[in-house]
Amino acid sequence: MSDHHPDIETMRHSCAHVMAAAVQSLWPNAQFGVGPTTENGFYYDVLVEDTITEDDLAKIETAMRKIKKKKHPFTVSSVPTDDAIALMESMTQPFKVDLLSLLKHKGSTAVTKSLDDDKAVSIDTDASGAPSVTLYQTGQFIDLCRGPHVRHSGEIGQFKLHKLAGAYWRGDEKNPQLQRIYGLCFEDKEQLEAEIERLEQLKLRDHRRLAKILKIYHLDDEIGRGLPLWLPNGMVIRQELEYLAQRCERQDGYRNVATPHIAKEKLYVKSGHLPYYKEDMYHPIELDGENYYLRPMNCPHHHMIYKSSPRSYRDLPVRLTEWGQVYRYEKSGALNGLMRVRGFCQNDAHIYCRYDQTKEEFIKVIQLHARYYELFEITDFRMILALPDYECANKYSDDRENWEKTAQVIREAMDELGYPYEEEEGEAAFYGPKIDFIIKNVLGTEYTISTCQLDFMAPSRFELDYRGDSGKQEPVLVIHRAPLGTHERFIAFLLEHYGGNFPTWLAPCQVKIIPISDRHLAYAEEVYQRLFSAEVHCASGGLRVEIDKSSERMQKKIRNAQLEKVPYMLILGDQEVASETVNMRHRSGEQSAQMTCEDLISRLKQETESRMDFSRASVTCADESKDNE
Ligand SMILES: [Zn+2]
Ligand SMILES: [Zn+2]
Repeated sequence: MSDHHPDIETMRHSCAHVMAAAVQSLWPNAQFGVGPTTENGFYYDVLVEDTITEDDLAKIETAMRKIKKKKHPFTVSSVPTDDAIALMESMTQPFKVDLLSLLKHKGSTAVTKSLDDDKAVSIDTDASGAPSVTLYQTGQFIDLCRGPHVRHSGEIGQFKLHKLAGAYWRGDEKNPQLQRIYGLCFEDKEQLEAEIERLEQLKLRDHRRLAKILKIYHLDDEIGRGLPLWLPNGMVIRQELEYLAQRCERQDGYRNVATPHIAKEKLYVKSGHLPYYKEDMYHPIELDGENYYLRPMNCPHHHMIYKSSPRSYRDLPVRLTEWGQVYRYEKSGALNGLMRVRGFCQNDAHIYCRYDQTKEEFIKVIQLHARYYELFEITDFRMILALPDYECANKYSDDRENWEKTAQVIREAMDELGYPYEEEEGEAAFYGPKIDFIIKNVLGTEYTISTCQLDFMAPSRFELDYRGDSGKQEPVLVIHRAPLGTHERFIAFLLEHYGGNFPTWLAPCQVKIIPISDRHLAYAEEVYQRLFSAEVHCASGGLRVEIDKSSERMQKKIRNAQLEKVPYMLILGDQEVASETVNMRHRSGEQSAQMTCEDLISRLKQETESRMDFSRASVTCADESKDNE
């Protein structure tokens, strides 16, 4: 074993140098920006006379392999900053000159932080006290750098260049645009290949790609960025989720309300959204001399409903629920398919309760989450109790007593449920502690899907109270919750989670009828009518069936249905017409079976109403029995 083990950061960083050297060998006039490491490799921003294309990446890799083979040492020299500027000028490296001059005038951190590259360059002082920088040379390539590096170019590990993107110099659109070349870098081939496979899966499961195939939503510049249009197929999923929520919430005592998307400025001053949240809100609309805002949250509207009639201690808890549309101004660079949008619909509800009811209500909300997670087979998630950081006095209300009391309620609720959770200081909302639900998608990416917050601020801002049994007015506590998050983010998650293979109860089209030829069309219509009019409890009011009437051959029709990820295909030919049956094929590859329409309807009815996927269940059973052998 070698006694020298460079850490992975050092390898990736050194690999970036080697890539830049390779680019320089192919494009001698290339100009270089910065080249930091990433979570799976590195990138380097470069500018060449023509453009680097995807095809060029292989050429660059070959040049990198040559340099790797030569085992060029990384040699360091320290030079006065002014000499380094002169050197970079002579090599026509304007971005490096820009970096050095910025550094000379502003000091290192401010400049390099904004460039995501803490190794780009930093100023030291040499023996005489004059400012100096370090230069590293690998073969012919000289770069400004602070190091450290591997000993020589033979130690840069296994790499692959995988992506090209545009990047403005120092992130400013007024500056020239460079090309950003992304590379993967790992210690060994196995790790590299695993990462390539993961990225491939990511691409295949990308909700934007799947949503296009399945016709879920559409984004149009004429509507506006980040404002998705829901297509009929997407709407089916939204409505089934709403139907599910309605049934679960009904059992838990919620009442539905509906509220407008805009409200007067005064309401948001009262709620504190103005001015604290102003940057995230759309500009106001002026109407009759008053400003109206598109709402960024539903809470104030619900608070006004609570206040609309006097409440006694006997009326509590009051649980108001609404799929509420809200609008927030997200920076255009942050927008991403359905994951990050500017208008979205929340599975929102507010529970107004007495202090002594809080724990029980909180437990019920967490249990509702658990029911949903079980249904969607979300097994990889964690919960965080977000607490204030008292050091940041301006970020949190200084009502220490209430903070402690409410946090304690949540701890007791969580302990009673027996769910593990972590506590994190500084993550709480301004108005109270909360539990964040962080889920991991199939590819290991984590994000917050919903939160459950305990609010002791709104009751004082909005005077939300009730008449206690002594006749005295008492403040309520408010629980904000949205277990299914927003339609936008949750459906994006489900698309990736199921890889587009929605269980039958959620699938936009559940059954595709495929007549083998035109003479089977009449029978296909008959089967369609029987399925269509079957009584099934679901949001769409019945089974979702389509006939493929195209002139394609049967095999092609089957392939099309598979691409659309339709769970059930019914192939109808002479035999089926004669015996008045259907030939059922399931998407999972479950063997086709001849059955009567009645048998099929009862299976689909059970699957839809119980939200169980029988084909998935049978797959799991088979796997388990194998383990037992
Ligand atoms: Zn370096
Ligand atoms: Zn709320």
